[in-house]
Amino acid sequence: MVDEFVGKLIEEELQRQREGLELIPSENYVTADVMAATGSVFTNKYSEGYPSFEGLTEYGDEKLAEEVLADRRYYGGQVNTNRVERLAIARACRLFGADHANVQPHSGAQANMAVYNAWCEEGDTILGMDLGHGGHLTHGAPVTQAAKVYNFVRYGQKDITTGEIDYDELEAVALKEQPKILIVGYSAYSRIPNFKRMAEIGRKVEGCMLMADMAHVAGLIVGGMHPNPFDYGFDVVTTTTHKTLRGPRGGLILTKGVVGNPMRKPEKTLENLPTLIDRSVFPGTQGGPLMHVIAAKAVAFGEALRPEFREYAKQVVKNAKRLADEMQKLGFVLISGGTDNHLILADVMKSFGVNGAEAEVAIDEIGLSLNKNSVPDDELPPFRPSGIRLGTPGITTRGLKEGDMVKVAQWIKAAIDAREDDAELKKLRAEVKEFSLRFPLPSDK
Ligand SMILES: *Cc1c(COP(=O)(O)O)cnc(C)c1O
Repeated sequence: MVDEFVGKLIEEELQRQREGLELIPSENYVTADVMAATGSVFTNKYSEGYPSFEGLTEYGDEKLAEEVLADRRYYGGQVNTNRVERLAIARACRLFGADHANVQPHSGAQANMAVYNAWCEEGDTILGMDLGHGGHLTHGAPVTQAAKVYNFVRYGQKDITTGEIDYDELEAVALKEQPKILIVGYSAYSRIPNFKRMAEIGRKVEGCMLMADMAHVAGLIVGGMHPNPFDYGFDVVTTTTHKTLRGPRGGLILTKGVVGNPMRKPEKTLENLPTLIDRSVFPGTQGGPLMHVIAAKAVAFGEALRPEFREYAKQVVKNAKRLADEMQKLGFVLISGGTDNHLILADVMKSFGVNGAEAEVAIDEIGLSLNKNSVPDDELPPFRPSGIRLGTPGITTRGLKEGDMVKVAQWIKAAIDAREDDAELKKLRAEVKEFSLRFPLPSDK
């Protein structure tokens, strides 16, 4: 790289990733193929609009990659962008059993905003999980733009020792507030929500759209380790592509319904959601799509369709369950008492009298990355909360198996214990480094 400063930082970041382990549950390591597509010449291209949707769910990859069809784009030169976006859409539909996919959202937040904008008017009510109980910022945090436009109301967990959601409360709030959207899907929740029950409640409210924000667990869904909300009648699934799904950073919106011409405004019905959403992404909330990222999404979706990805998803959950067990043996108090997915939320204040921020710094010091996190109804502030959040998508990609979780749990505990002992932290750092280098990044293979 000619730019010596940025070049050096990329090199140092590569070294950091090689010498440590990523435990942040929303991160992963992509393959060399995904990275190559992200760094490809598609970054030079403007492609506002959409490719033709003809044959998307019937044609195989070969035909999708070959056939040049008419499109609805605003710029010329789309012969390759059309084909690569068609591949990404078709593969996304295959993965999730959807009728339509919009692969253009720049991020998970953009995907959610586009869905709200497609279905709601200003002032409409949206029902989602309490942010302190695991909901995401985009589900109505007061600091967001969405919170200025829509009226967010909440449900929560009934019992944080089991993670059970308070479905009776959810139903009462839904019937009272008559939301236009019911959102299922969380950022810091380690159990499996009851999609059937949620769908039944949502359907009691007229005009309520069922939305599943599967940003964290999308890879587990396509790998067969988590229920697919479409099987319970959900209308829309949004997700990121970079968490358990292991693609480039980005967003994705999947829908059931009739795929229509995005140039024409359809009636506002659940059936027309695919078209309403396409219009809401572009031109509603975004400009030109990131075609290099869409190419990388196509690659990642192709990888997720392979049988190896099912093995991966299975191992992610196996590792998380084992890591949760090992942590409990060492005295960690876990919110919900364990995990059914890839994610663990531990109350380190209750466990060891240390706050999440201090724990994060000490654990970072030895080469393990995770994040401080509020626990439900936390008495401490968000920048110094009671908990830490961690997960296994990244380390499973690196090749760690359940037996390795014993060591990982011990290191986390040891770092917390040694948080004021620089010499001990340094010793642990060397151990983690030596261990991590035995598990190359997928892009190094
Ligand atoms: C991560 C996440 C998002 C946002 O994704 P970004 O790509 O960071 O914008 C949205 N919803 C949930 C539940 C998430 O976990």
